[in-house]
Amino acid sequence: MSSYSRVIHHATSILCSHKGSMDLSQLHRRVYQRFDISDEHFWYILKKCPRFALVRNKLSAEKGEADYIVVAKTSLRLCKSYAKQDCFGCQDLHLCKYFVYGNCRYGKGRKECKFSHNIQSEHNFPLLRECTLHELHEEELFLLLLQNDPALLPEVPPLLFETPLCVLSNEKRFSEKG
Ligand SMILES: [Zn+2]
Ligand SMILES: [Zn+2]
Repeated sequence: MSSYSRVIHHATSILCSHKGSMDLSQLHRRVYQRFDISDEHFWYILKKCPRFALVRNKLSAEKGEADYIVVAKTSLRLCKSYAKQDCFGCQDLHLCKYFVYGNCRYGKGRKECKFSHNIQSEHNFPLLRECTLHELHEEELFLLLLQNDPALLPEVPPLLFETPLCVLSNEKRFSEKG
């Protein structure tokens, strides 16, 4: 698989700059611009490499064209203990969660963030290199992390939970009146 690492990196980078997924044929076309790789080889890489997941494209299946959507994957996660400041060595990334979201209030201005904004740090870089993600740009890497780590899904605003309760209490009030 290592001989394919350039192709894997390039395909990952294309996917990440394209919101994390892309039609198989479109991706192959883009990779082919840089690497002389046959259909079979490309398919083999996508199938074998855990970086990619293939999902049947429903739309083209309905039109009778069998195509797949390729989704970029990684098993790399953000360390949860790091946020609580009680991690003493792990195989997860030590990064500020809000930095990954792209909305950390610190780090740019006067006040420095107490969590790392450095993907090249002594802790993070070897982990990225092991997953061959070290050449990705920050934004590409963050998209990949956000897309794969269930713990990074945006927190559900409390309002969504409140709505049914409000409806219930309104109903109750109504029946009490009647
Ligand atoms: Zn950790
Ligand atoms: Zn931060």
